[in-house]
Amino acid sequence: MNIAVIGSGTMGNGIAHVFAQHSFPVSLIDISQDSLTKALATISKNLDRMVTKGTLTEEQKTQTLGRITTYTDLQQGVQNADLVVEAATENVDIKLDLFRQLDSFTKPSCILASNTSSISITRIGSVTQRPDKVIGMHFMNPVPVMKLVEVIRGYSTSDEVTTQILDLSKQLGKIPAEANDYPGFVANRILMPMINEAIYSLFEGVAGVEEIDTIMKLGMAHPMGPLQLADFIGLDVCLSILRVLHDGFGNPKYAPCPLLVNMVQAGHKGVKSGQGFYIYTHGTKDLVVADTFKKR
Ligand code: NAD
Repeated sequence: MNIAVIGSGTMGNGIAHVFAQHSFPVSLIDISQDSLTKALATISKNLDRMVTKGTLTEEQKTQTLGRITTYTDLQQGVQNADLVVEAATENVDIKLDLFRQLDSFTKPSCILASNTSSISITRIGSVTQRPDKVIGMHFMNPVPVMKLVEVIRGYSTSDEVTTQILDLSKQLGKIPAEANDYPGFVANRILMPMINEAIYSLFEGVAGVEEIDTIMKLGMAHPMGPLQLADFIGLDVCLSILRVLHDGFGNPKYAPCPLLVNMVQAGHKGVKSGQGFYIYTHGTKDLVVADTFKKR
């Protein structure tokens, strides 16, 4: 089975890594050559880590890298694909345009999957002539480590395609869980209101940044608190997913906290911008609360 992965950023390089490690030939496609070069370096570094840990041999590493071919030309990259996993930038227009092109460039039997966090699979499928073969394959970050694949059935996705993708996810050593196509699917529908509520608790002065994260981390046995997690995901990404939930359900319970809106407008997007609820100018290991939220 030939796999094509579109987008070689954070998620795309991890998805290509996992398929190649499990013996699938992978075409990795991006409009940016720079991103492809960085992706191959990241995959190589992550494979090295596995070799050091003893979970992969040096030979398996070489074979894995040998299965990945990079392309900047979409048509060339997807023409032999049996499955495309799209992991390009989270933007509706980019995705709809890509799926229109994929519909004409790929074999009619090819399954078209999207790794989108929040865009409707049904809407993506509707721009193709094969909505029965369009499905969500929502990997978690970091892909080589995280076990879950949230498999999202669009309104028209067939049983056969769903079963194929569930089986394939298991072949990759993952644990798939099926969800229907409603705003935020399951993962973000539950996660984002929790993050939003943590931001509201800070906004309303219920507790400070460290206290909120400590209570949730130790009290619920979460690996990190919700504010730190929001910084990692990106506050702009959290805001845009909350807006999808708010628009999609029309329920005020999903309204993004004004503090989140302000922070994104101020350019404080979390780890990627160097500052969110914490400061990351010295890396992500030592947590330092941002000045704005320090207790006076
Ligand atoms: P990213 O910004 O790291 O990478 C996106 C890549 O897509 C870039 O390299 C960009 O050059 C490329 N790209 C943009 N337009 C393209 C096009 N037309 N053709 C080919 N390549 C194109 O983004 P990411 O964080 O890897 O997210 C990718 C997808 O995965 C999004 O849909 C996002 O919602 C989803 N997702 C992200 C996470 C996460 O934690 N980052 C988790 C789950 C799902």
